[in-house]
Amino acid sequence: QQVVLRIPDNALFGKYELGKLLGCGAFAKVYHARNVFTGQSVAVKVINKKKLNGTSLVSNVKREISIMRRLRHPNIVKLYEVMASKSKIYFILEFVKGGELFAKVSKGRFSENLSRKYFQQLISAVGYCHSRGVYHRDLKPENLLVDENGNLKVSDFGLSAVTGQIQPDGLLHTLCGTPAYVAPEILTKKGYDGAKVDIWSCGIILYVLNAGYLPFNDPNLMAMYKKIYKGEFRCPKWMSPDLKRFLGRILDTNPMTRITVDEILNDPWFRGGGEYKEISF
Ligand code: ADP
Ligand code: MG
Repeated sequence: QQVVLRIPDNALFGKYELGKLLGCGAFAKVYHARNVFTGQSVAVKVINKKKLNGTSLVSNVKREISIMRRLRHPNIVKLYEVMASKSKIYFILEFVKGGELFAKVSKGRFSENLSRKYFQQLISAVGYCHSRGVYHRDLKPENLLVDENGNLKVSDFGLSAVTGQIQPDGLLHTLCGTPAYVAPEILTKKGYDGAKVDIWSCGIILYVLNAGYLPFNDPNLMAMYKKIYKGEFRCPKWMSPDLKRFLGRILDTNPMTRITVDEILNDPWFRGGGEYKEISF
């Protein structure tokens, strides 16, 4: 039997047939797509080059891409390839079926056990990246996807510097991005340690998963920053003392004394009776 390969005229570089729009950000549009040769489902993130002007930015993007391609972890969305036309950059990514963790937690807060499961997967991915010198810098439930088996996948790891708000100094200025997840030391605008900032955001995420709302929040942006800077937050009554203590160690406003990934891995709440098994790669 002869197999006839039909390549749609409009397929991206003759290889990917674009389908429906999956999501939309400030700098990018993400589409479902199909590899016309293998039938494999992928997600295609399209970035408009006009929005990435400046040469330092282009070299930044290239560096991030070369790192991203080497990341292999079960809780990180895989970057298969990068393509470009005159006006656009295309990231061909692993397709994650279940949607954003944000949508799930919006429907209702998670139990402490489910929060722990997602947090363990998040830390596994974040620790893996940090050990390779990659920092996400825009961790939040909108950038965490869940696959059909209920496993977490960190999305656009390292690409946040591409699609986020980059300023001429090369640092990511999340101030205009996602204020609620920003670490206090970012607010001082003196530069920051990518690892410490990621850990802070993981703490905000853990709080949101179990509480169902943000630890530092205010309709007034300056008032919110003030709360973050002070680092004072209340925990809901259903939180266990162990989780409260753990959150206190993560949401420590001093980056020098804030808990490290290694300390997180040995924390009693995190280990939850020893059910956590370290994955090595
Ligand atoms: P931006 O940097 O503009 O926020 P994202 O990479 O976060 O873009 O993608 C925007 C949205 O598209 C995500 O919040 C998610 O809903 C969807 N999306 C992104 N990547 C994937 C993927 N690999 N699989 C499925 N959906 C995705
Ligand atoms: Mg995003």
